[in-house]
Amino acid sequence: MGDRKSKAGVSGSSDRRSPEGMKARLRDALWTVWMPVAHIAAKGYVAGPHLTDALRVSEMLARREFGVTLCPWNSPDTPAEQVAETYHAALRGVPSGALDWYLSIKAPEIDYSLQLTQTVVAAAGQLGIGVHFDSHGPETADPTFDLVERLLPGASPLGCTLPGRWERSLRDAERVREWGVRVRVVKGQWREPGRRERDPRLGCLEVIECLAGNAQRVAVASHDPVLVRDGLTRLLKAGTPCELELLFGLPMVPVLNVARELGVGVRVYVPYGHAWLPYCFTQMARNPRILWWLIRDMTFRRSARALAAGMGAASGPA
Ligand SMILES: Cc1cc2nc3c(=O)[nH]c(=O)nc-3n(C[C@H](O)[C@H](O)[C@H](O)COP(=O)(O)OP(=O)(O)OC[C@H]3O[C@@H](n4cnc5c(N)ncnc54)[C@H](O)[C@@H]3O)c2cc1C
Repeated sequence: MGDRKSKAGVSGSSDRRSPEGMKARLRDALWTVWMPVAHIAAKGYVAGPHLTDALRVSEMLARREFGVTLCPWNSPDTPAEQVAETYHAALRGVPSGALDWYLSIKAPEIDYSLQLTQTVVAAAGQLGIGVHFDSHGPETADPTFDLVERLLPGASPLGCTLPGRWERSLRDAERVREWGVRVRVVKGQWREPGRRERDPRLGCLEVIECLAGNAQRVAVASHDPVLVRDGLTRLLKAGTPCELELLFGLPMVPVLNVARELGVGVRVYVPYGHAWLPYCFTQMARNPRILWWLIRDMTFRRSARALAAGMGAASGPA
C-alpha cells in the first residue's frame, strides 16, 4: 500500500538526454520532493515506527473485540532477508492466545522468495496464525499468486488480496477461490495500465459476487459504507463467512455502524514502521478530496494512541 516506487526505482531509462530520459529525470526530481512530504503526512496512518507501537495499539483494539492484522511496513531498499526478519519479529510479538490475529506480508519486498516465505509461513503455522499477502502494482500480481500457489497446500491459513478496480481480478477470484484461502477485497491503489478504468466500487462488488458461496472466507476491506453494506449483505446471503476489515487511521464510524447492523465482525489492519500514504496523490484530479486529506495529514498530526482510542470509543464491532 502507499504511493511508493518499486525497489527497481522509477525511471530505469538508459539515455538520460533523450526525451524519455528527460521525462524520467523530471519524474525522479518530483519524486525526490514528494517523498519527504508524503512521509510526514503518512505518519498518522501507522501505529508508530516500532513493533511495540503496533502491539500497544493492537492490544487496545483486541480488548474492544476487534480482530487485528499486523503489518510491518519496510522502506523500499530494505533487503529481503531483513524484511523477512521483521515478519518473524512481528510473529514473536503476537500475544499467546491471540489466534484471531494474522500477519500481512508483501511478496515484492521479500523478492518473491519461496524459501524466505516458507520460513515465515512455517513460524506462523506453529503459532496458529494466518499469513496474508497484500496486493501492489499489477506487475506484482502474477508472481504473488504463483508464490501463494507454491506454498499450498498444508501451509498455515493463507490469504490474498484482490483489487476491485482491476479487470484481471475476476479471473484471479476464480483461481483463488479454488485454493480455499481467505480473500480480502479492496478497491486497490494501483491502476491496471492500458486498461479502461473500472469503477472501483462496482469492480469490488463483481469480485465479491464471484466469491460469494464459493470462497472460504472473505473480508470486505473498505471505508465506503455503500460498498461495505452491499458487499457484506451479498456474502451473508450466500452463507460465506465474512468480515469488515479497516485500515488504521482512516475514518471508521460510518462503516462500523453498518457492520454492527449486519452483525459482522471487524478487523483492523495495523501497519507500523515506514509510513506510507493510503491514497495515491496522482489521483487527485479524479478525487479532489485527496488534496484536503493531504493538507490535513500535513498539518494536524494525529497520535496513534488518540486514533486507537477514538476507534474504540466510536463504537466497537458487532
Ligand atoms: C484493511 C485494508 C487493507 C488494504 N490492503 C490493500 C492492499 O493490499 N493493496 C491495495 O492496493 N490497497 C489496499 N487497501 C487500500 C484500498 O485499496 C483503498 O485504497 C482504500 O481502502 C480506500 O478505499 P475505500 O474502499 O476505503 O473507499 P474510498 O472511497 O477511498 O473511501 C471511503 C470513505 O472513507 C473516507 N476516507 C478514505 N480515505 C481517507 C483519508 N485518507 N482521509 C480521510 N477520509 C478518508 C472518505 O470519507 C471516503 O468517502 C486496503 C484497505 C484496507 C481498508
